Amino acid sequence: MKKHILCWLAGVLAGWAMGNLQSVKAATAAEAAEAQDLFDGKTLQGWVQKGGKARYHVEDGCIVGTTVLNTPNSFLCTEKEYDNFILDLDFKVHPSLNSGIQIRSQSLPDYKKGQVHGYQVEIDPSARAWSAGIYDEGRRGWLVDLKDNEPARKAFRQNEWNHYRIEAIGDTMKTWINGVPAATLKDSMTPRGFIALQVHNSKEAGLQIRWRNLRLQAVAAPKLKALIIDGQNNHDWKGTTPGLRKLLEETGLFEVSVATTPGKNGAMDSFKPDFSQCQLVVLNYNGADWSPATQKAFEAYVRQGGGVVVFHAADNAFPSWPAYNEMIGLGGWGGRNEKSGPMVRYRDGKVVLDNTPGPGGTHGPQHEFLVEIREPNHPITAGLPARWLHTKDELYSKLRGPAKNLTVLATAFAAPQKDGTGENEPVLFTIQFGQGRIFHTALGHAAEQLRSVGFIITYQRGAEWAATGKVTLTRVPADFPTAEKSSTR
Ligand code: ZN
Repeated sequence: MKKHILCWLAGVLAGWAMGNLQSVKAATAAEAAEAQDLFDGKTLQGWVQKGGKARYHVEDGCIVGTTVLNTPNSFLCTEKEYDNFILDLDFKVHPSLNSGIQIRSQSLPDYKKGQVHGYQVEIDPSARAWSAGIYDEGRRGWLVDLKDNEPARKAFRQNEWNHYRIEAIGDTMKTWINGVPAATLKDSMTPRGFIALQVHNSKEAGLQIRWRNLRLQAVAAPKLKALIIDGQNNHDWKGTTPGLRKLLEETGLFEVSVATTPGKNGAMDSFKPDFSQCQLVVLNYNGADWSPATQKAFEAYVRQGGGVVVFHAADNAFPSWPAYNEMIGLGGWGGRNEKSGPMVRYRDGKVVLDNTPGPGGTHGPQHEFLVEIREPNHPITAGLPARWLHTKDELYSKLRGPAKNLTVLATAFAAPQKDGTGENEPVLFTIQFGQGRIFHTALGHAAEQLRSVGFIITYQRGAEWAATGKVTLTRVPADFPTAEKSSTR
């Protein structure tokens, strides 16, 4: 125990010296290094019973579950929840009793009145021997049975102790029975929850199952895969891609790769990144059309729930690709005009669509401008100051597009004395396209603007939100800009 705390402390201190984000990483790594006992061998401390009234007690260093009559399935549940872990345990079961180990399971008032539900690693001493198959208790039924896995069926030992290893990491769950691989499941319906020991309801009272050596090792969550696309742009993409990459990596959440298209007049057919392997695509591209196959693949990726960040001049790209324009919501230049869709403005406290004819896309000279949050409850903007000064940048204005399923997060006033439109122009917004989430930042003309702390925080949060639908990067750093003073790193 002492050693564990010291390791952890050393990790935190080392991490602290490297900066806050790193310290979280170091602590996680230290935790992963040592397994924890879910059962102290003597008491049921840390466990709580849900569902039926089967009896649970402790005997000879084991948790013993005993059937009682006329009660539904019973569960002895950990009080804590776990997400990514490797769980090892032993059990010995009566040949007529069905049981199982719940993982990432839940009991919620608004789901079947609190019925325990979720992934169950089956304990099945019956003749079919599907022990270590994966069943979805109280929900979808069998997910992975052992019909086609004879070695795993044969691995079960009747009337003896059996060993399970259960791995749950990211969207993948794997099981082993007595060292033999049993089930592999890819499923992301429930990423975290309690662990529970089931005593199935039974027509016979007094049947018993024993569990012992319940050891859980927490594992760091797998990183999200992000892909930055560049290669052609009227902007300095070679200068901005390294910054866009570094800002994602420093969150600790992303593993980043870059796909660079051929240059102007290059053979665009050769550009076919595998979007299906990504959770996030960052668009730093404004150039020649992609091949029809790549366009189709990108549309399918987003429609099926892929995340996208549209970065600055990426909203100048592809004026004649309808789905792309729906995804970016609003764009500029490239011949865009009233036929491309309305402008989106913020007037008198609300978002207004402006159909006034005219070209789409303009900006005055670079200057510092005030960004005003219009959706303070969105995960990307929650907790940020309502108004903050962005560093010297272009203030994209008169952007036009389909503007479907678009949420304006923040606007900036384009002041006439800076050759502006006199309107509150949207600078940060989100779009829903099919199941996909898009975060669009009109900020960030060049590498210099990527140093703006306002840009950095909204880009990092926007990327996480686009990839996962949530934001865990909720900390507002001390150097975040105020309404009076911009801030750079
Ligand atoms: Zn620009």
